[in-house]
This record gives sequence, structure tokens and C-alpha cells, in this order.
Amino acid sequence: MGCDVSGVQRITVLGATGSIGLSTLDVIARHPERYQVFALSGYSRIDELLALCVRHRPVYAVVPNDEAATRLRDGLLGAGCSAQVLVGEAGLSEVAAAPEVDAVMAAIVGAAGLRPTLAAVEAGKKVLLANKEALVMSGALFMDAVRRSGAVLLPIDSEHNAIFQCLPGDYARGLSQVGVRRILLTASGGPFRETPQAALVDVTPEQACAHPNWSMGRKISVDSASMMNKGLELIKACWLFDAAPAKVEVVVHPQSVIHSLVDYVDGSVLAQLGNPDMRTPIANALAWPERIDSGVAPLDLFAIARLDFQAPDEQRFPCLRLAREAAEAGNSAPAVLNAANEVAVEAFLQRRIRFPEIAGMIEQVLDQEPVVALPSLEAVFAADQRARELAREWLRRHGR
Ligand code: NAD
Ligand code: MG
Repeated sequence: MGCDVSGVQRITVLGATGSIGLSTLDVIARHPERYQVFALSGYSRIDELLALCVRHRPVYAVVPNDEAATRLRDGLLGAGCSAQVLVGEAGLSEVAAAPEVDAVMAAIVGAAGLRPTLAAVEAGKKVLLANKEALVMSGALFMDAVRRSGAVLLPIDSEHNAIFQCLPGDYARGLSQVGVRRILLTASGGPFRETPQAALVDVTPEQACAHPNWSMGRKISVDSASMMNKGLELIKACWLFDAAPAKVEVVVHPQSVIHSLVDYVDGSVLAQLGNPDMRTPIANALAWPERIDSGVAPLDLFAIARLDFQAPDEQRFPCLRLAREAAEAGNSAPAVLNAANEVAVEAFLQRRIRFPEIAGMIEQVLDQEPVVALPSLEAVFAADQRARELAREWLRRHGR
């Protein structure tokens, strides 16, 4: 790994057409002297991927199938663009691990991001990890691969990036060794923070995707509305910072200005603040340990005026409890939770189930599926598949 002679770093953006991918390209484009796009991937929005290729001139573009490849190749030819088009998971892993690449933004949503993200880790890259599902599914294997390969793992969630910034450089010695009492993981509470339980049965996908503070992809938006996002983040925090689940406390903070906090044994509590804009954690991770302009406006504390905090309501948001229980059970439980959630969220977005049924479905799958060890990637995907099948069975049983 290393920069080319000009000192420019070459970046692969997996999931370039998504919310995180676009924010990443926005930051990269502000610093052409530092960053160059090596590869971009897209999945369903091929025309948007073409426009990104024309703008950022990658060496490679990756699409899911031959039909998309033909369409993209035709478009590239018409636009006088020389990007080479690769196909499928093999293509993703190739551009993640290519020797020319310095850093990989892992911003594919869901389990589909696991293999290419691991390919980047195994190749010892600097990996900017937005895809939380990958780590939730395969935490132990993933972190082992990081240690073995010497990859530099930098967290992209606003919360985990905040925690990373509030921890000392040598936190890998162990949180208690560096005097950390707990991690305080903030949550906006999502669009239904104040919605009474009885009304949750009628909420629509549009309402769930209308987040008050953040503009994000549809899956993570629904996860935020159910607070499963915070549950997945809790599991992600445990792996990234080697924390026991009991050491991570969720704090609802509706303004999303404090992005998380670290509580030390001497009573000091360090927080990272900023406007809710993912370009801040992205710029932080891209340039780490340096700092670069991200395009984010300075924080106006006078306009914000107040910051509120509440305890999470696990009665209305059982997904948070389910995720905490899965974190405590360890082994296959988080992978099962994640897979059942992916099926449930998709069904909710397709209007096949009601919002509260997301948690109901996940709980039943977790109850049905025994917790087993996951010694290999094959075992991870087998647990993922079993959980998806149980979730689909739930849908059939309920006539959806
Ligand atoms: P998004 O839906 O906007 O984008 C997802 C990207 O993944 C797209 O580029 C899409 O083409 C690609 N993709 C989807 N399915 C794929 C598949 N099967 N194979 C290959 N590529 C596929 O999502 P997003 O909001 O950008 O989130 C991406 C990831 O980052 C998620 O894991 C999310 O939890 C995490 N994250 C997002 C935010 C945010 O603010 N959006 C914040 C923190 C973490
Ligand atoms: Mg987050």
C-alpha cells in the first residue's frame, strides 16, 4: 500500500451511488491534490453511476450484472470515458483489494457489502467502514482479519467516528486500561420519537424514511425509525472498541449535534459535536490523522441554543432491546438479527408488513434459531441464509 509518486491517494468507493458514496465523492472532489478516484460501484442506478464516472474519471466501475455492464459501457463510450467495467461480487472484491488502492470506502448497504469489505481488509487497506451490517454479521472474523492484515479501520458512522475522536490514540490497549468508564452512544430517536405506541401500527414507509436530521438511504432510514440502527451501532461499537455491551449506553439526543461521548473514570466526559452532515466523519477518516475541509458549515451553537437528552424507550422500540440481547448472546445471534431485519425492512418498504411487525418478526426468528459459533465466513453466510429463510417463512405464515 502507498501513494503514487505525486502523493495522491487512490480511493475505491463501494456503493458510490448511495448517500454515503455521494458524500464521499463530494469531499474527495474538494481535494484533487490529495485524492483520486480509483473505482466506483453502483447497483441499480446505472445512469447515476455513469454520471459519476464522467465526473470523477475512475479507472474501474463495478456493476451487478452483464446487462448493467453493457448499458454502462455504451454510456461511457458515448461520453468519451475510458473506465473499465467489472461485474458482480468478484469485481467489487477486485477493486477493493487492487494493489494500486490506498483507501476503500465501504458504503454498500447490508450483507452484500461483507465480502468486498473483507477483501479490502485482507489486502491491508485503509478501510473507511460505513457498512455496519458487515461488522455485525461477522465481528470476530472481521476484527481478526484486521489484526492479521494490519488494515487501518476507520469508522464512518457519525457516532463511531465521534467515539474514535474522543478516545486516546492507544485505546486498543483496552478501554479500562485507558480509563474509559463507558461509551455514550447518542441516538436522534428518529421520526417516531414522540409517536404513541398505538399509532406506530399505521406509519408508512414514507414517514419512516423522513428522518428529522439526516438524509440517508431507505434501509438505514427505516432502521433509524425502529431504532434497530442504534442496535446495530451498539454491536458495531462493541467490535470496533472492544467494549462489552454493558459498557455502551444509548442516549436519545434529538438535535443530533453531539455525535457520541466517552465517559472516563476521573469524571471527564469527552464529546464530539458538529452539524449532522456525514461529510464530517468522512473527511475525518479520509485525512486521518490530519484534518481537511469537508464543506460542512461551522456549528452555530447560538442557533441550536439547547441540547436535550432522554433515555430510550424499549417498550416502543423493541429492536434496541433485541440488538442488545443479540450482542450479549454473541456468536451467530447478531448475524441472525441482521438478516431477519434486512428481510423485515424490505417487507415493510414493500408495504407487506406493518411497522411494529418488524420487531415481532425479528424476535420470532431469533427465538427459532439456535445460537451457534461462527468459525468461518461460510458459517456466517449459512446463519444469514437460515435467518432469511425463517423470516420469509414468517411472511408466508402470516399471508404476506
Ligand atoms: P444507500 O441505500 O443510499 O446506498 C447504498 C449503496 O449500496 C448504493 O450505492 C447501492 O448501489 C449499493 N448497493 C445496494 N445493494 C447492493 C448490492 N446487493 N450489491 C452491491 N451494491 C449494492 O445507503 P447509505 O445510506 O449510503 O448507507 C450505506 C451504508 O452506510 C449502510 O450500511 C448504512 O448503515 C451505513 N451508514 C449510512 C449513513 C448515512 O448517513 N447514510 C450513516 C452511517 C452509516
Ligand atoms: Mg449512525
